[in-house]
Amino acid sequence: MVLTTLNDREFRSGLAEAVKHGLIADAGHLEWIEASAAQLAERDLGAVTALIRRSIAIKADIVARDEREAGPRELLNAGHTVGHALEHAGGYQLLHGEAVAIGLVAECRIGEALGVTPGGTADRVEALLRALGLPVRTPAGVEVSRSDLLAAMGRDKKNRGGKLRMALPSEVGRGASVDVPANAVRALDL
Ligand SMILES: [Zn+2]
Repeated sequence: MVLTTLNDREFRSGLAEAVKHGLIADAGHLEWIEASAAQLAERDLGAVTALIRRSIAIKADIVARDEREAGPRELLNAGHTVGHALEHAGGYQLLHGEAVAIGLVAECRIGEALGVTPGGTADRVEALLRALGLPVRTPAGVEVSRSDLLAAMGRDKKNRGGKLRMALPSEVGRGASVDVPANAVRALDL
C-alpha cells in the first residue's frame, strides 16, 4: 500500500481493519489505537507504520494458528458479515473499510444483545471509529433496507445451513464464531 497516494477517505477506510484486528485478537493493540487515534487520523507516519506492522503480525498469527486448528481465520470476518451486506445492499457507495466500520459496531451490538459480547464494547468501538474519522451508521443518501441487508447476508459465503454466522467479540481482544438469528439483524439500528 502506498500510503501517500491515498486520499483521506481511502486512508481512513484502511484503519477499520486494524481496529478489527485489535478487537478480535489483541486488546493491547486496540488500546494502542485508542491512545494514538489523533496521530493516526492525522496520518502521522510513525504511528501509521507502527499500526500496519502490528496489524500484519496479528493477521499472520491468526492465519498460522488456523493451519494448526481450524477456526481462528473465521475471526478475520468480524464486521464483514454486516459490512459486506451493507456494501452490496448500498450499491457500493460505501468504501469497503467504511462498511466494515459500520459492520463492526453493528455486530458488537448484535453480540451484546445475544450475551456474547460484554456490554459497552459497541460504544467503545464506536467512539474509536469516530475518532479515526470513520462512519458508524449508514450515511444519509445510502439507503439500505432490512430486507435487502438480510438478502445480502444470505448470499454471504460464511453462512451455512440457512444460519447467519458471525465472528463476534467474546471479550475485547478475543472473538468467537456464533450463529445469529435473523431477528437480531432486523432489530439493528443502522
Ligand atoms: Zn475487509
